[in-house]
Amino acid sequence: MPINPFKISGQWYRGNTHSHSTESDGRLPIADRFTAYQQAGYDFLVITDHRTVSEVSAYSTEDFLAISGSEVHPENPYGGSTYHIVAINIHQKIDCAKLHPNEVLEEIKQQGGEAVLCHPYWCGHTLLDYQPLTNYFAVEVYNDTCTGIGKGFSEEAWDNMLDRIGPVHGIAADDAHGTEHDCFHAWVVLKATELTTDAIMDAFRTGSFYSTLGPEIVDLDLIEGNEHSKKTITLECSPVQSVVFKGQQSRGKSVVAPEGEYITQAEYDVPSGTSYVRVEITDDHGKKAWSNPFYF
Ligand SMILES: [Zn+2]
Ligand SMILES: [Zn+2]
Repeated sequence: MPINPFKISGQWYRGNTHSHSTESDGRLPIADRFTAYQQAGYDFLVITDHRTVSEVSAYSTEDFLAISGSEVHPENPYGGSTYHIVAINIHQKIDCAKLHPNEVLEEIKQQGGEAVLCHPYWCGHTLLDYQPLTNYFAVEVYNDTCTGIGKGFSEEAWDNMLDRIGPVHGIAADDAHGTEHDCFHAWVVLKATELTTDAIMDAFRTGSFYSTLGPEIVDLDLIEGNEHSKKTITLECSPVQSVVFKGQQSRGKSVVAPEGEYITQAEYDVPSGTSYVRVEITDDHGKKAWSNPFYF
């Protein structure tokens, strides 16, 4: 079951789940990639070079966690382009040739890893491509390097998956290849008991995180059985221009600050028949943050 990270004890950690080095098409060697993220204030980074895996545990320090991973590319038997799947915490290279994408996803699980479906908009992927898949835990709601062609945001793909497939977490990631343009712009803020791979993976699996391009979610709560509504979601956040509560299909609510003002809190009475609600906030520079959904 998903966990609300604002209602459990633990530490907040900042991390990026998707990055490349000179082991594939990235511009920085692995050591320099880790140094850059550590200096930028990150607590963890996953190296996800295309079609290969590097063992990176030696780059971990007391206050920085280096996580091995890969971006794998199984062929797509459902008519769309080749899949881009980030595998967090795998240690053996997966040779995708001749493997069905679900066999690749199963292999990621068997290695103790977790799979993220990457940049749907950039891939031109739709439900036709995602409905047959199993064993993934998240989809990239935002991928920074894909903004290079204006296809960084995949919110509609995430919502379609929530509406038609079922629970799936949303992740914002840099997909860092270069040294500046696609670095340090999109990250997860994750609540875990400690900075170890096991604890971070548990937090990923349970959705104990939110994703952001800068705005901060300060508190998020689900209040049940109050006087005016059976269920109310309450939000506190850094000053933003708009807050949107999104449910399935036509359900939801948008709150926009008056000209020259900001919003730091909002709430939503959840109508009966709602299957999920996620929260999205946008600041005055267009920077967004996304909670994972509450499910009902
Ligand atoms: Zn990719
Ligand atoms: Zn990538």
